[in-house]
Amino acid sequence: MNCTPWRNRSPFSSRSCCFSAQARLYGRNDAGPGSFARLGEAKASLSNTDIVLLTHLHIDHAGEIPGLFKARAVAGSGPIVFNVWGPGGSAGRGEDAYFPSTREFLEILFGAKGAFAYLKDFAAPITLHAHDIAAPAANSAPQQIFKDADLAITAIAGHHGDAPAVIYRIDHAGKSVTFSGDIDATGLPALRRIAKSTDLLVFNTAVLDPPGSPAILYTLHTPPHAIGELAKEVGVHALLLSHISPAVDESNAAVLESIRRNYAGTVTFAQDGMRARP
Ligand SMILES: [Zn+2]
Ligand SMILES: [Zn+2]
Repeated sequence: MNCTPWRNRSPFSSRSCCFSAQARLYGRNDAGPGSFARLGEAKASLSNTDIVLLTHLHIDHAGEIPGLFKARAVAGSGPIVFNVWGPGGSAGRGEDAYFPSTREFLEILFGAKGAFAYLKDFAAPITLHAHDIAAPAANSAPQQIFKDADLAITAIAGHHGDAPAVIYRIDHAGKSVTFSGDIDATGLPALRRIAKSTDLLVFNTAVLDPPGSPAILYTLHTPPHAIGELAKEVGVHALLLSHISPAVDESNAAVLESIRRNYAGTVTFAQDGMRARP
């Protein structure tokens, strides 16, 4: 199992992408701006991609889905069946923003009257299966959403401000990778439940320890000291810091030191094109 993270240069845009090295099955985790270009630079083939795991539907995580699907459609011959998992929607009451469910999101993009309705029969016949994962869900348990031979994918609702969010864990051939997604303090109990003893925890690292980042960002993201605490508590074997903001990039020594106060395992800052093997 390879994990290919990248960090593009715009704010909040270090993405992560996981490929499970199984003959038939390549998975993608999130698809934000730059992911298409970074995949090309990493010489990653899309020709076997048929599973997409969306942590949430912010633009920097889901905005490049049409480009990736198009690239996949022209990369391989024969019919394609995509299975896409992601959060359920949010009605957007009060101050909260509206979010479509993953199923609705794909309908808006690729449905019969969707923006890119043409793609289904453009280069190869495409069948789309969308799966909504209920989020938020307080005290929810990890649920297995996919199983094929020694590949298993588990999901649990996370928490990311008003955006419904999902945390994924991929277990393959005795190794595991867990993706925090963008996550705030309310989501950490769920991450603890799903990430127990995981080999590699890919943790989105967008803020400095308080008060180093704007207050509003702490309602959306997890600071380094809390990342270190969680990694130690659940027995994570290695940490990969992804989704790195410019502030974190400029202060990576301080970020590392803060994590190190609690966590003694390997800590790596994601680089474009890097391949991490748990
Ligand atoms: Zn987000
Ligand atoms: Zn983000």
